[in-house]
Amino acid sequence: MEYERKVTEEIQYVPKRNSTTPVPLRVHDGLFIRAWHYARRVIKLGISVVFYFCVGTTDKFWGTMGKLRPAICVVLHYHGVRPLERSRFARQMDTLIGLATPIPAGNRELLQPGKRYAVLTFDDGFQNVVENAVPEMVARRIFSTIFVVPSLLGGNPVWDTMGADYIREERLMSAAQLKALPTELITIGSHTATHVWLPSVTEAQAREEISASRESLQRLLHQPIDLFSFPYGGCNDRLIELCREAGYTRVFTIVPRLAFRDPHEFVTGRIEVNPSDWPIEFRLKLLGAYRWLPSILKLKKKLMAFLFPEESLVRMPDATRYDPES
Ligand SMILES: [Zn+2]
Repeated sequence: MEYERKVTEEIQYVPKRNSTTPVPLRVHDGLFIRAWHYARRVIKLGISVVFYFCVGTTDKFWGTMGKLRPAICVVLHYHGVRPLERSRFARQMDTLIGLATPIPAGNRELLQPGKRYAVLTFDDGFQNVVENAVPEMVARRIFSTIFVVPSLLGGNPVWDTMGADYIREERLMSAAQLKALPTELITIGSHTATHVWLPSVTEAQAREEISASRESLQRLLHQPIDLFSFPYGGCNDRLIELCREAGYTRVFTIVPRLAFRDPHEFVTGRIEVNPSDWPIEFRLKLLGAYRWLPSILKLKKKLMAFLFPEESLVRMPDATRYDPES
């Protein structure tokens, strides 16, 4: 519970005063903005390389003392895999099974010390996932969970795409496609009924979004829906509690933390990945080397609150951003 509270403190991204939606992070075409995104990506990568080697050295030290490091489990979250990205996605899956053991998102078993595990998740339920990602995962027998928005099945994503307008052209899986997925490898979770920014709605609306989406998917698929992911990562303690009351057994955020240290963990963090990630970037994410990010986000939040006390801290973390250039 202490861990969960710590996590949720970090992921309560409050909408701007008098605003009901999160501040949109627009995808700009300007050269300067692109250069800035690229520079930030390189900086994050550099820090992750240093982090990875520091942690690796510590692990080796414990190894010489005859102790195994604790298991490492990382939950990856994708959105779509477009046709041109399929081969890159396939290479990422090869890397995944080479470096880690894929396990289901609903895992309840104790992880073995010294081993690496990976969990694969997809938010939104795009058709391009069925067309391009599912065949590659099935060929490699990799478990995954797809979080869908039941009221929009078969339609287009009509929610706020934070400026990534290309997403609106994508189609979402139909009910028939959902039913045809191989259940031994792919589980379905809820991503609310309408992909709403939950922190902005009333408690009654949030409860409805969380519960009705579960019930509707259960009716459609004739199976329990136990897993939930928050649209845009927007959540707080009360929303997490509503998920518990609705009967979910685990909820997923977008805070890149190691997963399943406790097999009964209710709130699980994830790291965003894209088929366009550089191979070294993907590898390091998979190895948990980006888990320093939450600490930096927390520091940034404190710094912003100190520098601009009049302004509510409104930004969503970088990890939530749809970035077609990354
Ligand atoms: Zn989403």
